Amino acid sequence: MPSCGYLALPARRATCKCLPVLAFLCAILLCYWRICYCSLLEGDSEQYKGLRHRMVDQQIAARGIEDEHVLQAMRDVPRHLFVPKGRRSSAYGDFPLPIGYGQTISQPYIVALMTELLEPEKDDVALEVGTGSGYQAAVLSRIVKEVYTVEIIPPLGKAAEKRLKEAAYENIKVKIGDGYYGWEEYALFDCIIVTAASDHIPPSLIRQLKRGGKMAIPVGSPFQVQNLMLVEKSGEGEIQTRNILPVRFVPFRRKWK
Ligand code: SAH
Repeated sequence: MPSCGYLALPARRATCKCLPVLAFLCAILLCYWRICYCSLLEGDSEQYKGLRHRMVDQQIAARGIEDEHVLQAMRDVPRHLFVPKGRRSSAYGDFPLPIGYGQTISQPYIVALMTELLEPEKDDVALEVGTGSGYQAAVLSRIVKEVYTVEIIPPLGKAAEKRLKEAAYENIKVKIGDGYYGWEEYALFDCIIVTAASDHIPPSLIRQLKRGGKMAIPVGSPFQVQNLMLVEKSGEGEIQTRNILPVRFVPFRRKWK
């Protein structure tokens, strides 16, 4: 009917005029929501800081870790950025978490304990075998001068290197390779930390440890309870080992695939 057409036309025109404005407002809202959501996920919100402080108080200091540098490093490093996105809400729990390729990021307490055992100092050069997510390297890098870390699974090592670079951990170098041989080019090391369980202590790691240096390494068969060992090289080059704690780590491997 013509009368209907006559009446309907101005209304349609008004809707047409409003559409671009509406679309513009929607786009602004969408951007705002994305910025808020991303900063919550990607960045380090007050909420995550709170969780981290609670993690240090309840899981780490409460279990006897006393080194103030270690406690501070654990408070500073945003652990949630080192776990897969879908697991961020569990990042500050009292347990290890999967990081892909069958590997895990260690329980926060174990990271703190191993770091404290090394008695790291600000001028130290440290080697880590088993970069994984890069979290342990990040924690150590807050205390020592330089950290060299080796990862045998290329995609894990490359992702960790990118993550560490983006977060401006400038005193960490990542290498893809078999950490059984350490990292000859930068040896000797004041401290060595191994985050996969080996059935013996690799001789090259003993060789690359400085006199007076310390190494923390889980020793034992894969998928059974292993012993976290502290290896100390005296000023005369003698080796002493001490069992610290039964632990369970992923196996030390000699190749990928
Ligand atoms: N430190 C890591 C946890 C690593 S889990 C973190 O903070 O997230 C142990 C890691 O050791 C795994 O990524 C595994 O691939 C690596 N690994 C096992 N054997 C290795 C070897 N021979 N050389 C280097 N890395 C090794």
